[in-house]
Amino acid sequence: MNAETIRLIYLIFFFLELGWGTALSLLNIRRIRKNREKVPDAFAGLVEEQTYARAASYNLERGRFSVISDIFSSLVVLALIFSGTLGLLDALCRDTGLHPYFAGILFIFAVSLIFYFFSLPFSLYSHFAIEQRYGFNKMTPSLFVRDAVKGLALSGLVCAPLLLVLFWFMDTAGNLWWIIAFAFTAAFQLFLSLLYPLVIAPLFNKFTPLEEGSLKEKISALAEKLSFGVNGIFVMDGSRRSHHSNAYFTGLGRVKRIVLFDTLLTSLSEGEILAVLAHEIGHEKKKHIYRRLAASFLMLLAAFFIVNLLYRREPLFAAFGFSAVSYQGIFVILSFCSGPFTFFLTPLFTSVSRRHEYEADRYAARAGFARELEGALLRLGKDNLTNLTPHPLYSFYHYSHPTLAERIAAIRKAA
Ligand SMILES: [Zn+2]
Repeated sequence: MNAETIRLIYLIFFFLELGWGTALSLLNIRRIRKNREKVPDAFAGLVEEQTYARAASYNLERGRFSVISDIFSSLVVLALIFSGTLGLLDALCRDTGLHPYFAGILFIFAVSLIFYFFSLPFSLYSHFAIEQRYGFNKMTPSLFVRDAVKGLALSGLVCAPLLLVLFWFMDTAGNLWWIIAFAFTAAFQLFLSLLYPLVIAPLFNKFTPLEEGSLKEKISALAEKLSFGVNGIFVMDGSRRSHHSNAYFTGLGRVKRIVLFDTLLTSLSEGEILAVLAHEIGHEKKKHIYRRLAASFLMLLAAFFIVNLLYRREPLFAAFGFSAVSYQGIFVILSFCSGPFTFFLTPLFTSVSRRHEYEADRYAARAGFARELEGALLRLGKDNLTNLTPHPLYSFYHYSHPTLAERIAAIRKAA
């Protein structure tokens, strides 16, 4: 296949993805506008008119904003490919005289930085205009800058050694380098997830042990009743950045640490917090976490298999504006291709994820938390101004969780 044909195929998939994504977003926006006058029947008596109207305008703003930012970032990708910038940048990095591995890492960072700077105005507008207007943003500009610096430094610290080892495997590990590279990357990911709660998360947030009292006693009793190993219950200062709230577990294996956002503690009752935790324990008991991990490793293996197939094909590199094949080039090319060539698989992943959410809800309902779980979901839905009327096609394609109406209906049925 020559470079022209490869470009044409890429463009077809690229515009299919962009067109499909934009069409879904526009459908979703129209659905919100059509329903914004009246609280939907499923939520009559549960959601106040004022909250509903606020949620509708928040989701309209977010929806329109994401259409614009998606189109803009697509233009950046096309401009990078068709202007020959990738090839130019790659040549510049090679000309530094650095060892080829380091020149390759420099190139990958340069491309990431370009995307970072083009997305920066959108990120600023999202935080300091939209989220600010609806009272969600609690982040100061100085915290935003500190987060950005830490985030960039951290991704350099994590990615540079990984890339270095991958390049070395590509050079020296023979035909089966990609299997070795996969095993190494998977192990590296596991290692990072162990490190995350201990080293990485504390760089961005403060974690304080939940103070003694009735909530702590109730959580411990719940964990014991459901035979769930707990290694500490922590409160995270999520309110430093955003008013959105959440709860999660970290750690692999049988013993977990529970993390509650401080915003969750102020908005939910103790019973509702227990219901949220019972839902999370449901994910654990139904082995969802391991299944997700297995699925992501499978995808990683497939990605390395594809890298191995393609990393010496000159026409492919020419199609993306490179003048020569390179290790760093193939990673950038694949990251440009990953969206357009896999977008039709998205509903497969989201529907599995939604099935897991139903299972976890059912688990919590059967553990006796049906009423509290419904209360918690409704409270969080209202607090986070969740879209109560997504277009079915949009939620089918994008949503990792069933819609609020679907979840409440299923919880009532399970109880
Ligand atoms: Zn869940």
